[in-house]
Amino acid sequence: MTITDDPDPARPGTTPPVAADGHGTDADLLAAVRGGDTGAYAALWIRHAHAARRLAYTLVSNEADADDLVSETFVKVLAMLRAGRGPAVVFRPYLHTTLRHVRHDRLRRDRRLDFTDDLSRFEAAGQFEDTTLARLERTYAIRAFTRLPHRWRLVLWHTEVQGETPAQVAPRLGLTPGGVAALAYRARERLREMYLREHIISTAVDPDCQRTRQLLAAYVRERLAVRARDTVDTHLGGCRACHRLRTELDEVNADLRMAPTPGCGTTGRRPRIRPTAGETSVGHPPITPRRRAATAAGTTVNSRRSGPSE
Ligand SMILES: [Zn+2]
Repeated sequence: MTITDDPDPARPGTTPPVAADGHGTDADLLAAVRGGDTGAYAALWIRHAHAARRLAYTLVSNEADADDLVSETFVKVLAMLRAGRGPAVVFRPYLHTTLRHVRHDRLRRDRRLDFTDDLSRFEAAGQFEDTTLARLERTYAIRAFTRLPHRWRLVLWHTEVQGETPAQVAPRLGLTPGGVAALAYRARERLREMYLREHIISTAVDPDCQRTRQLLAAYVRERLAVRARDTVDTHLGGCRACHRLRTELDEVNADLRMAPTPGCGTTGRRPRIRPTAGETSVGHPPITPRRRAATAAGTTVNSRRSGPSE
């Protein structure tokens, strides 16, 4: 399948109000695809395939595999749209998350290759479940959450998941309401950064690349000190692989605007980080989420070592 250059230079992860290619917005095209218009999906392909391919290159080592990954991803997303699921407004973040999932699925498949003449169990492979994608993102969120210091987890738990006010939480943490609000702010920001880190699958051997990738989440969140930021800028200027990774991370970061606290969904949704006995009160170590995260980590592609410890 041929991949054309991306004619849409819009900022990654956003949908232009009026598309430069004359095909309407992503939302228009998504609605048309759901209505059975195959041409609309071709327009989405032309608009987003180049960016998807850039992402694929950061995940696999050769051009053929990258093309293959992109093709399979578009097929799966089309199946989702035809089934009435998938995104309604913003296409690219969904496409990219699906691509990461497809990659993850392939790795898992490759690790447990078996040989059989019975292909019947693969016939349902075209049915792609939204729940799988949600599970992967939830895994990232839980792992990011468990990497936060204990006190930060507590404040997030009470304010973001339980929906308590700073005034309600203050006596439990021995802080003023203002102190709780400030702590919650820092904890949320750190959670976003850790969540972004979970998306980086780095196999780089170059020490400069390794250092840059460790700093990339903080860089994208604009949390680096000037000197560190300059160092990253310099490296990104001369390293295409890390530059591609940064572009991808920018897109995940843009997606965070729709769900500002990873794992807690958007307004009105049920929290994705589930309540557990260990996390519901001060004084009890939140062991269970850590155990759950450890279990989840063993089932995801992102099995790289974690970033710098707190
Ligand atoms: Zn690099």
